[in-house]
Amino acid sequence: MHDYSTQSVRPGVEREELEFDVLFVGAGPSNLAGLWRLLDLIEANNARPGARKLEGLTIGLIEKGDAIGDHAFSGAVLDPAALVELCPDYQERGFPSEGEVKREEVWLFTERGGFQAPVPPPFLRNHGHPIVSLSRMVRWMAEAIEQREVPGVDVMLLPGFAGSRVLWEDGRVVGVQTADKGINADGTPRSNFEPGNCLKAKVTVFGEGPRGHLARELEEVLQLQAGAVNPQLYETGAKEIWEIEPGRVPDGFVLHSTGWPQGDGESGGSFVYKMGGNRLAVGYVVSLDTRDPFADAHLALQKFKTHPRIKPMLEGGKMVQYGAKALAIGGWYSMPRLAFAGGMLVGDAAQMVNAARLKGIHLGMKSGLCAAETIVQALLEEDFSEAALSRYAQAFMASWAGAELHRTRNFHQIIAHGLTPMAALKLGISLVAGGWTPGDPLRGSSDARATQSTEAFYGKAGVKRDSLDWGVKFDGRLCVSKLDDVYASGVMHDEHQPGHLKIVKGDAVCVGCWDTKGSPCTVFCPAQVYEMHPDQDGRVEKVAIAFSNCVHCKTCDIKCPEENVIWTPPEGGGGPKYTLC
Ligand code: SF4
Repeated sequence: MHDYSTQSVRPGVEREELEFDVLFVGAGPSNLAGLWRLLDLIEANNARPGARKLEGLTIGLIEKGDAIGDHAFSGAVLDPAALVELCPDYQERGFPSEGEVKREEVWLFTERGGFQAPVPPPFLRNHGHPIVSLSRMVRWMAEAIEQREVPGVDVMLLPGFAGSRVLWEDGRVVGVQTADKGINADGTPRSNFEPGNCLKAKVTVFGEGPRGHLARELEEVLQLQAGAVNPQLYETGAKEIWEIEPGRVPDGFVLHSTGWPQGDGESGGSFVYKMGGNRLAVGYVVSLDTRDPFADAHLALQKFKTHPRIKPMLEGGKMVQYGAKALAIGGWYSMPRLAFAGGMLVGDAAQMVNAARLKGIHLGMKSGLCAAETIVQALLEEDFSEAALSRYAQAFMASWAGAELHRTRNFHQIIAHGLTPMAALKLGISLVAGGWTPGDPLRGSSDARATQSTEAFYGKAGVKRDSLDWGVKFDGRLCVSKLDDVYASGVMHDEHQPGHLKIVKGDAVCVGCWDTKGSPCTVFCPAQVYEMHPDQDGRVEKVAIAFSNCVHCKTCDIKCPEENVIWTPPEGGGGPKYTLC
């Protein structure tokens, strides 16, 4: 088995052990909704005459970001279905909406123009839904939780602590160990060394977001993906927030497009959302099951901004924040087993995204709500077995969220290689047949294995990305270089620590990849972490890794065609600092 734990297995180091009844790992919307609902349910239970009281409970939540919200990143136009279930008066309680959707455009772009849908297709209709910054939204949720006082329950929100590895006892999950802090690159402890703690819990809820490293460990040990039709699948999204001139884009404006600048046979698309404070979110997503070894979401975003429909919106404006992240898009047919003895997976960690609607926050939140209901039952019965916790999976699948995922179960595979006439026909059939389409279930290969050699894709063996003309001039205003964009993500890591990106099969594999595929990691990484420095003869020895630029998008862990990279958590607190994303 791979070691997903970075540096935290240190024989002889004494670790404090902390006991929790319930431990949430990750402060995304799924886990925060779960924790919030758990408090509601415990309070309601304890107020019920004759009910067995749930008292003396300790509930914890750890988050690898320095503050809750720092690593939260999404579009986003929110379907408020789960939020309404959780907090019906969310608007009165100061929910940080960036405005309601009032005007929607859906386009198939060509380089100089395109075709606008006369009305948005049903799955892209968002009229009246709130536009949100996920980073601001999860901060609001965390503050609401912190203000709660539920008698008999201690709640500890612990940002700045990365879960480093899963703790096991007799084959069941019993918590996580947090990452050590204060270690030199050579592994020796510094004077400020702080050993990670063992956080033990009766139930651990893993909501790490897409491609969680702890979820990878769970999947490998427990074979959680064994019953799925497809492997877990992802896109990478790159996004910039712009401050724009007043009047350039109306309030409540939302645009989605597909087509240019993605290549023929590839899948991806854009989003433009008007935010509060005259800001505009402009983003581009690229499916990672692309065959193109030089697929690059950051480059696609830069080109997208030069389109005649988009460029006028940004003229006179200024880019103020940048971020990138992988998004789960496998949906129904890629979902792992959701529950196991001592633990559960929620949200993006379990591929709960509706790729057709480009939405997953509402599904993730619903999974948190379902998980909370099961946890209360488990606490009352003191039964944390797989059978008891699997009630969560049954409840989620039977809910509106499960039905929504089932209705779009083939969506990504239909359009995985572009919106061809055949894909459009299959899509139409699936829309009227509740998700069924000829060939259901449509199968896909893993994102890493889909990558072709440069010879197969570009018709030129050994071609390197920098030798091709990509048609973008980085002027530092409209088109921003990767490194300038990374600066705008606020990313920061202690550079003395060991690198958190592990090359697991050795440098020779990277050299072979450079020769045949042009080292896709040097292209797809939206933060320019990986670089190859060939000598005069074009030979390379290893890949250079500037880990301190890493914005934790996880694309390298997913898309390295040689499956040679494992993303592990750096010291808690490191990473991007999103405030508007
Ligand atoms: Fe994303 Fe990997 Fe680059 Fe970090 S190193 S920004 S996880 S692709």
